Amino acid sequence: MALVVMKFGGSSVSDLTKIRHVAELIIKKKHSHNKVIVVVSAPGDKTDEILDIVHNITSTPSLRELDMLLSTGEIISISLLSILLNSLGETAVALTGPQAGIIGNNEYTNAKITQINTNNIMTKLKQGNIVIVAGFQALNNLGDITTLGRGGSDLTAVALAATLKVDYCEIYSDVDGIYSVDPRINQNAIKLNIISYDEMLEMASTGAQVLQTRSVLIAKKFNIDIYSKGTFSNDCGTLITDRRNYMESLSISSITSDKDKVQFSITSSDNNAFGLVSKILNKLAQCNINVDMIEQPINNILALTVSKKDMNQTNTELKNVLHKTSNIICRPCITKISVIGIGLRNNTTLLADIFNMLHKNNIEIFMISTSEIRISFIVKESDTEQAINVLHKNLIESKMKIKH
Ligand code: ASP
Ligand code: MG
Repeated sequence: MALVVMKFGGSSVSDLTKIRHVAELIIKKKHSHNKVIVVVSAPGDKTDEILDIVHNITSTPSLRELDMLLSTGEIISISLLSILLNSLGETAVALTGPQAGIIGNNEYTNAKITQINTNNIMTKLKQGNIVIVAGFQALNNLGDITTLGRGGSDLTAVALAATLKVDYCEIYSDVDGIYSVDPRINQNAIKLNIISYDEMLEMASTGAQVLQTRSVLIAKKFNIDIYSKGTFSNDCGTLITDRRNYMESLSISSITSDKDKVQFSITSSDNNAFGLVSKILNKLAQCNINVDMIEQPINNILALTVSKKDMNQTNTELKNVLHKTSNIICRPCITKISVIGIGLRNNTTLLADIFNMLHKNNIEIFMISTSEIRISFIVKESDTEQAINVLHKNLIESKMKIKH
């Protein structure tokens, strides 16, 4: 049985003309593959609109009721799509997350999928239906409907593909794949044909917003290939897989940026810098503040970055922990830029090259952190675009030109 999971994002089903186009793609797929499961998001900005309405009533809604309301967005999409497919002569059936057997835990608004009972889906498929499943929702053990966190329809699609042992999952959106850099910032952005799960995870966690991170983790765990494709494009899209064959060569895939960070630099005359760092980190951990980058104290200096939403609380907690003689500098206008690719760690000259490129352009670097496949650094927010463009040109565009 050739079974395919296709997922369509909110912008692909935001009006009837678009839904008709989506229906055509589904019918084509049904004819070539026989068995098709379709996962859909709420139309357009529906989820944001629902959240706005609720926040006009209260900032602390009952999360159980909020989830019930949020789930209606996806239910509009599945029913409309199913009505349309049936009117076109196909047999289709719409299932909510609970009807599709998607079971989750009790974390309202951010539920984790614990199990999928595929009986209902399989029966409907065997009867010849195109099965259309509402993304982003599950059933908990109290019989309540829950939602899976923002972007959760990607997760529904990949989790279904993993449970049904489907070879791959197609995720359609209004962009035709994953790009080497945000095309809104750099018009020379290159669409990537293939990237690894790890690169995709680094991209998602450093600012790229194409796929929900949790869905990529599941894809990696169960080895499900994901094709990120454009609903309105004929391009083959980007394959996200572990089959990227890069041997040992350096291959930089993308540059990402994240403006949602603030940096704190701390100077202290306290001789016990090590003890101080541990006190600070414990305090921030107790307050659930996630420290993103951190630099070890040299000459009693500690630098760290946190999310913008945690800025005020971090400032207060640092003041509480530190002596009056300590000096705290907060830099709110910074950007974290990341260079992502396979084999970065083993390339001895890359870090120096990046420094030189930025230095030549008078771009100052405030902090650096590296992993196996990522180099991140902090620059002034006003330097963001220039830094991205310089790095993209020298590290990605120039390499593409050589290949051609
Ligand atoms: N409608 C939900 C959201 O906007 C889920 C999704 O689109 O994946 O986050
Ligand atoms: Mg999405």
